[in-house]
Amino acid sequence: MALPLIRNIWAVGRNYGEHAKELGNAVPSADDIPLIFLKAGSSIVENKGTFRLPNFSADVHHECEVAFRFGADLQFSEVSIALDLTARDIQNRLKDQKHPWTLAKSFKNATLLGPLVPIRDLAVDELIFNLAVNGEVRQRGNTADMIFSPSRLREYIVSRFPVCEGDLVLTGTPAGVGPLKPGDRIAAEIPTVLRASWEIERT
Ligand code: ZN
Repeated sequence: MALPLIRNIWAVGRNYGEHAKELGNAVPSADDIPLIFLKAGSSIVENKGTFRLPNFSADVHHECEVAFRFGADLQFSEVSIALDLTARDIQNRLKDQKHPWTLAKSFKNATLLGPLVPIRDLAVDELIFNLAVNGEVRQRGNTADMIFSPSRLREYIVSRFPVCEGDLVLTGTPAGVGPLKPGDRIAAEIPTVLRASWEIERT
């Protein structure tokens, strides 16, 4: 089935305390304003896809995240697993220069998206998920550990931004981010709900 149109990807930074700490960032409190950045809807690599890493970065990291998709009523209607690929070396340079993160977060193939599954009666506030690279588990998360819950993120994003039906929200990554390299096989899952895989081309 062809992927439906996804115009915008609203991504959340620093939504898990242990990940904020591992990058040396302050841990937000639930009273703060969520950190939201955009990734291009055209940056998506579909489930089971192969892709190339950008040639301008030597340190592209995996960030495994639960993704939600907006339905016609702008409620979250579907869930998936995604990788918010991040050129960490570029992001650190941009941060130092106080520039936006676009080059680090929105390059070609910067968003890996698994299959979209209707939420129905899934308990989205307590989903566990994990990421393995070449068969080795690198990240484990539980949406119960989010600083800003899925419902709070949805309300905030809809109230501030021109959200379209079909847009995605990437809800932030737990600890354990790290580099990817050509030839890596990536597998991510929300156990009992969905699983996804991708492969990085050898260049
Ligand atoms: Zn992320």
